[in-house]
Amino acid sequence: MDRNERFPDVTLAEQKSPEKANDVMTKDTVVRIRQADRTGCYVTRFRIIFLGITLVLLIITLLTFIGMYFRREETCGCGANQVTYDKPNPGASQQDNHVTGINQSTPCACDAGSTSAPTGQNPNLHKNPDASKIPPWKQIRLPKALVPGHYDLRLKIDLTNFVFSGSVNISLYVNRSTRFVMFHRSSLLGILEKHVRVVPLGRFPRRHIKRQFYEKRYQFHVLELNGELPVGSEYSLQIGDFRGRIIQNLRGLYKSTYKTRDGTERALAASQLQSTDARRVFPCFDEPDFKATFKTTIIHQPGYNALSNMPVYRSSVLTSGWLKKEFLSTPIMSTYILAFVVADFKSRNYSFNNGYEFRVWAQPEAYSQTEHAMDFGIKAYEFFTEYFNISDVVPKADHVAVPDFSAGAMENWGLVIYRDTALLYDSEVSSSSNKYMVTLIVAHEIAHSWFGNMVTMKWWDDLWLNEGFASILMYFAMDNTYPEWNVFPTQVVEDMFPVMVKDAMVTSHPVSADIKDPDEIHQYFDVISYCKGMAVLRMMQDFIGWDSFRRGLQMYIRKFKFKNAESYQLWQTFTEAVNNTFIIKEIMDTWTKQSGYPVVTVREVNGSYSLEQSRFLLNPEEADPEDSNPFGYKWYIPFTYTCQDSPTEKQLVWLNRGSATIPKPSSGWLLGNVDYMGFFRVNYMPDMWRKLVDQLLLNHTVFPQANRAGLIGDTFALSRAKMLDYEMALNLTRYLKKEMSYVPWRAFLDSIEFLRGMIATRAAYVHLQQYLRNLVAPVFDLVGPMDHGSLSERYLRRIILGIACDVGVEKAVKYAHSMFKAWKKYGTRLPSDQAVLIYSVGVREGGAEEWDFLWEKAHSTSVASERAMMMESLAQTQKPWLLWRYANWLFDPNKIKQQDVRLVMGYFTKTPLARMVALDFLMSRWKDMVNSFGHDPFLMREVIPTVTAFVNSDFHFRQLKNLFEETPLRVASKATENALALARSNIKWMKTHYNQIADWLEKNQT
Ligand SMILES: [Zn+2]
Repeated sequence: MDRNERFPDVTLAEQKSPEKANDVMTKDTVVRIRQADRTGCYVTRFRIIFLGITLVLLIITLLTFIGMYFRREETCGCGANQVTYDKPNPGASQQDNHVTGINQSTPCACDAGSTSAPTGQNPNLHKNPDASKIPPWKQIRLPKALVPGHYDLRLKIDLTNFVFSGSVNISLYVNRSTRFVMFHRSSLLGILEKHVRVVPLGRFPRRHIKRQFYEKRYQFHVLELNGELPVGSEYSLQIGDFRGRIIQNLRGLYKSTYKTRDGTERALAASQLQSTDARRVFPCFDEPDFKATFKTTIIHQPGYNALSNMPVYRSSVLTSGWLKKEFLSTPIMSTYILAFVVADFKSRNYSFNNGYEFRVWAQPEAYSQTEHAMDFGIKAYEFFTEYFNISDVVPKADHVAVPDFSAGAMENWGLVIYRDTALLYDSEVSSSSNKYMVTLIVAHEIAHSWFGNMVTMKWWDDLWLNEGFASILMYFAMDNTYPEWNVFPTQVVEDMFPVMVKDAMVTSHPVSADIKDPDEIHQYFDVISYCKGMAVLRMMQDFIGWDSFRRGLQMYIRKFKFKNAESYQLWQTFTEAVNNTFIIKEIMDTWTKQSGYPVVTVREVNGSYSLEQSRFLLNPEEADPEDSNPFGYKWYIPFTYTCQDSPTEKQLVWLNRGSATIPKPSSGWLLGNVDYMGFFRVNYMPDMWRKLVDQLLLNHTVFPQANRAGLIGDTFALSRAKMLDYEMALNLTRYLKKEMSYVPWRAFLDSIEFLRGMIATRAAYVHLQQYLRNLVAPVFDLVGPMDHGSLSERYLRRIILGIACDVGVEKAVKYAHSMFKAWKKYGTRLPSDQAVLIYSVGVREGGAEEWDFLWEKAHSTSVASERAMMMESLAQTQKPWLLWRYANWLFDPNKIKQQDVRLVMGYFTKTPLARMVALDFLMSRWKDMVNSFGHDPFLMREVIPTVTAFVNSDFHFRQLKNLFEETPLRVASKATENALALARSNIKWMKTHYNQIADWLEKNQT
């Protein structure tokens, strides 16, 4: 054991000399009493006087203590009250509150002092002073007076008591003279104030800390010094002891568990620091543009492995038997991509020729499921290295599947952390869509090494730069490895259409949002940032061309490597890449700085086609007439089109924040937005729509897949917005009897989902089911149930079998039910792509016995994706009591993990009955939901819209509104606002469209 360590694996008291150990208790008075005690029995008058004085001092001390006891803020319960824990902030989770609670009542991690006597520390150190006259800590961002250069961070992670402690030295450069040192610290991170120092690095004036306090609102720990730190000087901020708990809250450094096959529970610690949770693990300058280098040391128990962003350069065993891992210093990077894992996982390893190490980690029993991530990951690293013409800077990459994770994955530089379903793939059990998702997420996270980690947004308002680019680049890597997967048309239905629905609401927000408060950051991790960000970049890539796009990115990475950039700097680089052919900023600002997107209407005017743009809103009447958007909801639109005369010849015309005119090419059709590369919809006059429908019925393959999907998506959206008759949209779907591609079918099923949800409790629903049966039966006959072919073919078969079972195509239901029975009775292996459908039919056709059987299976499988499929199917039961029982289990973490709550609620939206139960459940247990899950921004933001998507009665609207007002959400308030807006529009929709749709369906039953 290295006794010189500031933070070795022993108690704080142990590491100090005996005299100094008293310092831990800090107060001179206490020390003096002990010295007096040691004097023993030689009683002289002097000693009596001395003892008398001492007694008086002791009484004063005790009185002071009693006074302070009632005035102090929360302190560590074991008596080491200099470890400052602050009251939890109002948005903190129950678990968070729990931490502070434990600190108050039970022995905590602190081993600094066994005495229970609190010391006479200045109580003001724990209180917020009246700081209103002193602005720096009343501002949301840290001042730039001090810039961190390097962190020397030590963490001791205890997986027996689930606590961590550590120390950090941060070198600071003084940019502007100041007498305040401010840094971030979560209120849940205890800090031993006595061990905070500011030490000059060189011949600079020494400064002492006059006082220190905590600004709770912005999580600032503030040190006031006895003098200014002069400009140009350098200091080391040394924080010798901080502590925290490791709990299962998915934030900061948190606990996760898994069960081995023999039922033993194993624990691990993982981290999730984005956006502002690095401060939960160690005191730091927790903003993306305070980039620095980090040298990490982790001390942990034997039987585990410790991982961080960089490779280990020295490993040692301490005398206590604990292990110490020292990691190489990182490149310059932001705090939010630091990461730590302590687990007993097993890895699959690969070394590139240049020495780059790539490893995929999982719990030992899931080792075989890491193969796909490894195979594809190798190709993705090779692809991006060539694409950017620069290697990853961190010399290794660990990709780790942890059982509990809030998001899908996190791109921590060199240590990517995933929820297990996002990284693990079992070729025998997982479906082709699991494989697609794993591939997509691995590609996304690897792309972040360059875009996000190497170059980072300056502040969170440009979060979309990171996410939009990673989301477009991931498809490049996928297409490079699996060209037969058809990823570009698939983007349209999987990424663009869902966001085009959200962005057509008045409640949407611009891609580049104005984020001031860190509390708002979570709200912007949404489809707008990810998918619209991706879609507008995809459109730009189309009009500047592949080569210019790549050149621009390479220039950008070279220019801003290890730095932070803002969107204008990116646009400037692209303008250079296209030799000023376009002023990219001017074009792209119209797409990123205003919400929504346009619809281009094609009209024949005097023998030409006029193209006019307007903002597309699903409910135009909700638009605010006072809206002072500086762009006036006009866009620079690269409008591409083809004509019946020359269907493969793509032409381009720009609508420069206004309209345009093109010559009328022929009497045939004109198709706008070729390959659906633009982020806009196209509307035509009824006559042109009829020509397009006729072409589909005659030979639909003349149009690219993405456009077939686009025509379906656009007609349904335009009908919903009352810009087109539903009759036209429904007429267009008649061609689907011959459609053999996944992408248009997916567009149709997603579009019709809204209709199905809206009319599920009305008479026309029976007719809709019949129409769908007629449409899908011939396609089912052609694709059949057998599980084989390319990923696209398997995707199509899966979606067709699913809808066929759903609407009751007899052959399909029979097939699935017989497969379920054989699986239940004999354990017959199910085709991996169809398993979820087969389980669903089994549960739907069965009762409690089938349900319980599947539940048991879901909890005994070690394959995460198989468990997810089973959990999804359980929500298909048509027995309300089983659905209610299932929903109530959301509050039982032994049955449903918190990370799965949003998924399970999503499963409840697949049948009309489950939807009704989910809505009743949300309303009747809203307060419990807010209390249990309100702190998790991802969770509530997803649960609310999925459950309330089809609310279309005044009664339910009023109930929801009251609930949201009575018990509001802090972290996802936008979600409740959006849900109410959607419900309002649904109510109007029913009044406007229901009768017309019901009529059409009645007439089209054959
Ligand atoms: Zn990302």
